[in-house]
Amino acid sequence: MPGYKHPCRYCGEMTEADAAVCHACGKVNPAGDFRCRRCRAPVKEGWKACASCGASLTIPCPKCAEAVFHGDYCPKCGAQLDTKPNGGK
Ligand SMILES: [Zn+2]
Ligand SMILES: [Zn+2]
Ligand SMILES: [Zn+2]
Repeated sequence: MPGYKHPCRYCGEMTEADAAVCHACGKVNPAGDFRCRRCRAPVKEGWKACASCGASLTIPCPKCAEAVFHGDYCPKCGAQLDTKPNGGK
């Protein structure tokens, strides 16, 4: 949908709905849904497990080692989390 805009979840700036990076704050996936790392089903922040496949949605932060929801960034220290599907490389 050309022209459709969505507020960045981090800074509130309006970005393209499919923008990979927010032009205002530089964070990735500013408006997209979170997705399960295993089955790519949409998941919500705060969920402990994927409703579709049951995969755990909690991962250890690479920086502070806190077990956090696997959003794009650690809610504790702000480090970017690895949200690529397992074995995707
Ligand atoms: Zn932003
Ligand atoms: Zn899943
Ligand atoms: Zn962290």
